[in-house]
Amino acid sequence: MDFALPAPPVPSLPIAGSATRFPLHRIYCIGRNYAEHAREMGAEAPRTQPMFFMKPADAIVTDDADVPYPSATGELHHEVEMVVALARGGRDIAPEHALECVFGYGVGLDLTRRDLQAAAKAKGHPWDAAKGFDHSAPVSALQPVGAVGHMENLRLTLEVNGELRQQAGTADMIFPVAAIIAELSKLWELKPGDLVFTGTPAGVGTLQRGDQVRAELAGVAVLEARIV
Ligand code: MN
Repeated sequence: MDFALPAPPVPSLPIAGSATRFPLHRIYCIGRNYAEHAREMGAEAPRTQPMFFMKPADAIVTDDADVPYPSATGELHHEVEMVVALARGGRDIAPEHALECVFGYGVGLDLTRRDLQAAAKAKGHPWDAAKGFDHSAPVSALQPVGAVGHMENLRLTLEVNGELRQQAGTADMIFPVAAIIAELSKLWELKPGDLVFTGTPAGVGTLQRGDQVRAELAGVAVLEARIV
């Protein structure tokens, strides 16, 4: 096919222990998936209906690259999250088959312009400018599921300049991974290459230029990022 302009590159993530990379299709995110974080944001934890939003695939930051402080905010927040990468997709995926879609796991930051998000919430406006900005999705290398299996409960932590800011066990998620995949597939046809941010625990807070961030999903993945 002849394109009128140079075709955009395919965003991709490194895979632990492999020279090949994971080609990225879409980035889905679930909000309010840990009860304590929902409470700290002044929101009710959902019981039956998860709340989803998206980031553009080219918002990804990989290979521990520096993260530029975004424009138009004075309140950049960190949200550490387990990230799930899909090798298979589909529509209306049954929860009992959802984990068969998983390629691997990693850890990521759902970076947020919290001031713009608060303004959007107050006006009932969409969250795109608060959540889907450039460089808003730093993610670690992916750990293929064959290397680690599907884990019931993993320790998720975030340190800023060596100080512990967020910690939780992934078993505290309101909607576990299989439920998230099943619910997403009712709304969108999932595809190989999709990435899912699974929500953040309590303890979100601000980042400044110069901060050194370390996110870890114990035994699976580590992400290092410097805000510049
Ligand atoms: Mn989040």
